[in-house]
Amino acid sequence: MSGSSSQRSLLVVGPAEVHHALPMADCIELMAQTMASVSRGDALIPLRTVMPLPGGNLFGAMPGHLARPQALGAKLICIFPDNAHRGLPSHCGLVVVFDPETGLPRAVIDAAAVTAVRTAAASGVATRALAKQDAAHLGILGAGEQATTHLEAMANVRRLRSVRLWARDAAKARAFAEREGARLGVAIGVCASARDAVADADIVCTVTGAHEPVLQGSWLRPGAHVNLVGASRATTREADDDVVARARFFVDLRASARAEAGELLHAIQAGRVEPKHIAGEIGEVLNGTVQGRTREDEITVYKSLGIAAQDLAAAELICARATSESIGTRVPF
Ligand code: NDP
Repeated sequence: MSGSSSQRSLLVVGPAEVHHALPMADCIELMAQTMASVSRGDALIPLRTVMPLPGGNLFGAMPGHLARPQALGAKLICIFPDNAHRGLPSHCGLVVVFDPETGLPRAVIDAAAVTAVRTAAASGVATRALAKQDAAHLGILGAGEQATTHLEAMANVRRLRSVRLWARDAAKARAFAEREGARLGVAIGVCASARDAVADADIVCTVTGAHEPVLQGSWLRPGAHVNLVGASRATTREADDDVVARARFFVDLRASARAEAGELLHAIQAGRVEPKHIAGEIGEVLNGTVQGRTREDEITVYKSLGIAAQDLAAAELICARATSESIGTRVPF
């Protein structure tokens, strides 16, 4: 945005408009380009600041700058896990977009919807790159917002023949299976235990708010690919040390993984793996500088922490579509 102050406006994009402007299939391609670009060094992404709040809630600030497409901004995100009981998303906030040439504010975009889609799309990219080509059986742990978008992302990158789900609240698991099974046209089996949900899975997604492991490495079948998504702090983990030790282990960004990947840090501290256990960033696999899966029976893990580059790339696409498809509201600013 440029020009005189009288012409300036700020674009405001709400959750429904984000979902309209950011279909999963498009976001998967965008995340593939973004992660490849990040691993080529085309992004400035300082480690995010996470401020603990009273009551176990968190406030996070995730600034970033991308070179291609040029993008500047930050995600400001509140993580309030109990929001589900209020019928609200556990992650809420704003992606604030600035003009990279002038620094002027351009847009504010609902961060809950961006986070829901971009995180799953990034897992979709990792799964497409690392899971066996014929991977057809999906196991999901958790039944919240990320479970919803991850199911959609996995269905985009592999032809799924079965989906099995475990969540700690059986009623919520059944409601999820009914709702999302109908929406995507797949049968979702609800399991009484996490072990049952992953026992035959070629692809596993852990998308819970758990702070202690809900997934054990001994349960995984050879050749499985695992997306570890739910734990985002150094002190929390969804998977035990066996998952880490058994796997060829990939991350979204090495620097964040070294600081915040609870599963990896725990396994290092326990002496189960060395810091060099990180095989590579997913962008390095996409760029061909690091080999992905090396054997059919190898277990692969993608540890997702989420990076600002994903939010900014998604925000740029939303801004572009806002212009071409009249999405969002422009307010004088
Ligand atoms: P939701 O609140 O929508 O869903 C959370 C799910 O996890 C629910 O099924 C919930 O069950 C379950 N859960 C919570 N605590 C536990 C526990 N101790 N043991 C087992 N299950 C549990 O959250 P989202 O789907 O939005 O997010 C899921 C996780 O992913 C969160 O931890 C979030 O911080 C993380 N996340 C990671 C991102 C990344 O980039 N890597 C981005 C966004 C989110 P119940 O309904 O019974 O409470």
